[in-house]
Amino acid sequence: MADSSAAGKLPAASEGVAGYLSPYPYLDRLQEKMEERLAKKVPVKGRFCGFCYARLRESDTVCPFCQTDVAAAGTVEEIPQDVLRAYRTKQRTEARWVHTGAFFGLILASVLFLVLVLWGPGWLGHPALAFVVLIFGGYFFAQLFGTFLGAQIGYRRGARQRDALWTAWLAKREGRAA
Ligand SMILES: [Zn+2]
Repeated sequence: MADSSAAGKLPAASEGVAGYLSPYPYLDRLQEKMEERLAKKVPVKGRFCGFCYARLRESDTVCPFCQTDVAAAGTVEEIPQDVLRAYRTKQRTEARWVHTGAFFGLILASVLFLVLVLWGPGWLGHPALAFVVLIFGGYFFAQLFGTFLGAQIGYRRGARQRDALWTAWLAKREGRAA
């Protein structure tokens, strides 16, 4: 999938997260920084890498994120909206999967609670046990289906969407430069 002929702009493949190997490892490294920018925790203006839009220090001659030569790629004052949108898409997709998974976990615990209260034979039908299942089961299933499974599925889907948007952005940018 990764085109290694693209002027060495695609660094060597990394381990991959949650079973998805991004063809653009620098996007993963930039995700957190871009989320800070999206949340406006950092200044909008600055000095950004002309290739990957990482924020650069005055002393950087090579971008610490994409390893592009700063003099060759140039710098920009602001991160383009299309680029920010790619990171926001990843963030939202992942969050949606975590929340949906956690919600499913809570529903599952609630169903178990009702089943125990309504049909639990003997001590299994004791309300105290059902409440323990509701509270601890709710926590456990929310973690399992949200924080654990949901986050992995969400990461894979979100990262794919982000990477596709980045591919489209690269094509658009190269088209404009040509
Ligand atoms: Zn860069």
